[in-house]
Amino acid sequence: MSEICKKCGLDKSICVCDIVAKEEEKIRVSHDKKRYGKHITLISGISKDIDIKDILKQLKTKMACGGTIKDNVIELQGDHRRRIKEILVRLGFPEENIEVI
Ligand SMILES: [Zn+2]
Repeated sequence: MSEICKKCGLDKSICVCDIVAKEEEKIRVSHDKKRYGKHITLISGISKDIDIKDILKQLKTKMACGGTIKDNVIELQGDHRRRIKEILVRLGFPEENIEVI
């Protein structure tokens, strides 16, 4: 069964809304240290047009770590700044739009 995109009305298989949304992204990756010295990686700037839960699921699988979403910001357990860019690129985000702080 085919699905229709709510945004453009085209069949999901030919709709490019997701790709367009990813190209417009300015993703910011930052890092924080919580109490007890726990590191977390924060990914913000993901547009509401993108299925952020799916992105989180894929990141958790690829990084083999825990994570959650708070106010449209992905919070991953651990410091993943070195690998995260490569993985976000593989998920379809343009490299030049990803800023690792
Ligand atoms: Zn669409």
